[in-house]
Amino acid sequence: MTQVLTKPLLEIKHLDVDYGLGDAAVRAVRDVNLTIHRGEVVGLAGESGSGKSTLAYGVTRLLPPPGVVAGGSVTYHPADGEPYDVLSLNHAELRKFRWAETSIVFQGAMNSLNPVHKIDIQMMDAIKAHEPGLSKAARVARAKEMLRLVGIAEDRLEAYPHQLSGGMRQRVMIGMALALQPQLVIMDEPTTALDVVMQRQILGQLVELRERLGFSVLFITHDLSLLVEFSDRIAIMYGGRIVEEAPSADIYRDPLHPYSAGLLRSFPALRGERRELTGIPGSPPDLRGMPTGCSFHPRCPKRFEPCDTILPILGKPDDHVGRARTVACHLHPVTAG
Ligand code: ATP
Ligand code: SF4
Repeated sequence: MTQVLTKPLLEIKHLDVDYGLGDAAVRAVRDVNLTIHRGEVVGLAGESGSGKSTLAYGVTRLLPPPGVVAGGSVTYHPADGEPYDVLSLNHAELRKFRWAETSIVFQGAMNSLNPVHKIDIQMMDAIKAHEPGLSKAARVARAKEMLRLVGIAEDRLEAYPHQLSGGMRQRVMIGMALALQPQLVIMDEPTTALDVVMQRQILGQLVELRERLGFSVLFITHDLSLLVEFSDRIAIMYGGRIVEEAPSADIYRDPLHPYSAGLLRSFPALRGERRELTGIPGSPPDLRGMPTGCSFHPRCPKRFEPCDTILPILGKPDDHVGRARTVACHLHPVTAG
């Protein structure tokens, strides 16, 4: 996968997200910095509970209560016009941002198709709401094109959701998201309910489409092997923090954080040499009682003296100078700033 580093599209800085308020609050996302560039596919990986969905919901301001963004900024850079902080948008501006700039496909999105309407009506309604000026013929053409692009025959537009398989319905949802021609597509485990072959097909199509249409993708999954194959860069989350971020080839060949290495050993590689699958012993930390120092230390096979007391800072590792990667681990001292 070629690295496409262009202008930033979305810059997340020092983002904190809590569930609950005051003494009852637990911090699910901690001081997260992540930039998605134009045309880039960024993968976000981590075990269940690491904070991936909370980050996606926080960034798009779709957090269900009691979730609250407790700090940080999310700067969006439109194609024309000045950058703005998504967290400061009022209700009307936020609505416009969601329709015009981003599309989100969540896990199980296929279940949000309305069972009593055919696919064509649902796709056409979405396109009409987004681009009211478009003629009916243009809307039909767009809907057909998007279905074709996600590998569904045009005649399926006439189908009701129950006449399609789960995989097809999920593809329809992805096609619908893309029909609105967003700049940023956020996909939160959109393919988990599908088999591995189908997951790969859908992701492959998405990456091809990105090359044609130029949108950026934030793809969230616990399956690192999928990301290694399809993303330009990967960020790894643990206990609400990003602990490593690097081009996907670097994560695959030379993961620096022991947690990234453990995740890689938890899934069979889709291509390349076979790895022994050993997984990661132990369980993810409880947000209400995070371990001191490096939160991964109780599970880390490489922990040493400072790990249980000093929090490692995410930064560019001194032993990989010149590489576009960051890590938060005492094994790889970083240059501050
Ligand atoms: P998964 O892959 O299972 O969705 P994730 O990495 O996306 O996991 P989140 O769903 O973001 O993780 O959850 C992060 C943490 O926030 C978890 O510890 C979870 O228990 C907690 N959490 C999520 N939703 C709520 C909620 N509504 N109230 C309290 N805590 C929550
Ligand atoms: Fe392991 Fe220490 Fe690195 Fe944490 S800081 S990942 S405990 S070696």
